[in-house]
Amino acid sequence: MKSRGLAALSASAPITRFDFERRDLGTHDVALDIAFAGICHSDIHQVRQEWGPAIFPMVPGHEIAGTVTAIGNSVTKFKVGDLIGVGVFIDSCRICESCKRGLQQYCENGMTGTYNTVERDGTTIAYGGYSNNFVINEDYAVHIPANLKLQLEGVAPLLCAGITLYSPLKTWGAKPGMRVGIIGLGGLGHMGVKFAHALGAEVTVFSHSPSKERDAKAMGADHFVVTRDLATLKPLHKSFDLLLNTVSADLDINIYLDLLSLDGTLVVIGLPGKPYAVNVGSLLNGRRRIAGSMIGGIPQMQEMLDFCGEHSIVSDVEIISADYVDTAYKRTVESDVQYRFVIDTSTI
Ligand code: NAP
Ligand code: ZN
Ligand code: ZN
Repeated sequence: MKSRGLAALSASAPITRFDFERRDLGTHDVALDIAFAGICHSDIHQVRQEWGPAIFPMVPGHEIAGTVTAIGNSVTKFKVGDLIGVGVFIDSCRICESCKRGLQQYCENGMTGTYNTVERDGTTIAYGGYSNNFVINEDYAVHIPANLKLQLEGVAPLLCAGITLYSPLKTWGAKPGMRVGIIGLGGLGHMGVKFAHALGAEVTVFSHSPSKERDAKAMGADHFVVTRDLATLKPLHKSFDLLLNTVSADLDINIYLDLLSLDGTLVVIGLPGKPYAVNVGSLLNGRRRIAGSMIGGIPQMQEMLDFCGEHSIVSDVEIISADYVDTAYKRTVESDVQYRFVIDTSTI
């Protein structure tokens, strides 16, 4: 299938128009027209090879919302015209314990990412969502609730930013009475605020951008803490049950460990690519935990989208055209995004 996309030709080249072929529709595949593709900070990390060597040309994009245009002969989950979402992976082994439990992101044989990788046939390069269309096995795509049809631009970021914060909030049981802190109010963080609030938790945002306070509170934050002066954190010692760190840059994690109360957990979500130095004393004193969490499996992605449909939750986005992607990358790295850039793929 012919595709029109946007690609990084190298780690430093500007994003450019790129024509390529996707695989033909297989019997279990669906084809979709992409309406919107979100820009995740992970796209930037990968284009810039901050996570290691990458495959170029790279068509990034794993926050994909669109409409089904064709289905393979054996497809039962979708029909032409359905709204459809694709996230961070497009395949996995299907037979390991994780896959059987619907935790495909933790596939013991390695999930197949949406781009910057080779598909399971060992030869086909996976190209992502900064493009006009997509082909995917039906088992790895999800339904977008019909009532979100007119907000597809705000739905696209749910496929990564949304599920990545929804999943740990569910794992660690966010609920009324729980004190949850979200560190970093970017694409991921702002979804964390919306979900934690909807689940009834008391939500505090930790941000190094004082200008974001009003937005944070409008999204559902109860408190907003500016982290530029670390003295402001002192009074908050031992006052959180759960902290979700979404910061894309290096961070002194020990400052936040001290904010956890007994048995509190700090979940690492941001992935700047460098190891953290951990003050083990902070862990011992209070039986605190550091954990990690990576996106979410297909069943939970569907649950998250249904939750968004019920609670009318979408991402706050800035819709951009194809020629703005380099600027959007620059602004994202500068934490100047409100709160997700989303490409209108009709402009490619
Ligand atoms: P983003 O939109 O750029 O948001 C990151 C936020 O971190 C910024 O808005 C900013 O918030 C804060 N920040 C940035 N630089 C900082 C600095 N030097 N000091 C303190 N705070 C800083 O990025 P994103 O798309 O949300 O992604 C965040 C991270 O999660 C990335 O590393 C990404 O690769 C990773 N990620 C992980 C998963 C997973 O499954 N675990 C999934 C997707 C993405 P304030 O302005 O509020 O301080
Ligand atoms: Zn992502
Ligand atoms: Zn597996």
